[in-house]
Amino acid sequence: MTNLDAGLLRALRQAATDAADDGAEFYVNSGWRSPEYQNHLLREAISKYGSEDEAIRWVATATTSPHVSGDAVDIGHSDTTEWLSKHGAEYGLCQIYRNEPWHYELRTNAIDRGCPRMYADPTQDPRMQQ
Ligand SMILES: [Zn+2]
Repeated sequence: MTNLDAGLLRALRQAATDAADDGAEFYVNSGWRSPEYQNHLLREAISKYGSEDEAIRWVATATTSPHVSGDAVDIGHSDTTEWLSKHGAEYGLCQIYRNEPWHYELRTNAIDRGCPRMYADPTQDPRMQQ
């Protein structure tokens, strides 16, 4: 949990406490990543998907990844993602990409207005255009 955005961490802790009351255990697989680790993941994805164009639909670069900036977490368990898809917005925790049901970021506006519309995949996200 080191280097995660403080607001995101606070929202996750609050959600985890309330999820536990509902009997849903909370697993966070990966939060902050170093740029080196993100590059490693991207290299792996390029060999898996055969090209960088295809790989970046799944793995961001070290400069664009919200994991490197500490603004994203990947949730580790389907119980948790199910709970978050129902209750996450109350904490500002939103799924961002339709193809990544495990990836959550903090959107504080969601507490009042609900989560923003999801992108189909990261290539639709303007933050990924560099
Ligand atoms: Zn992620």
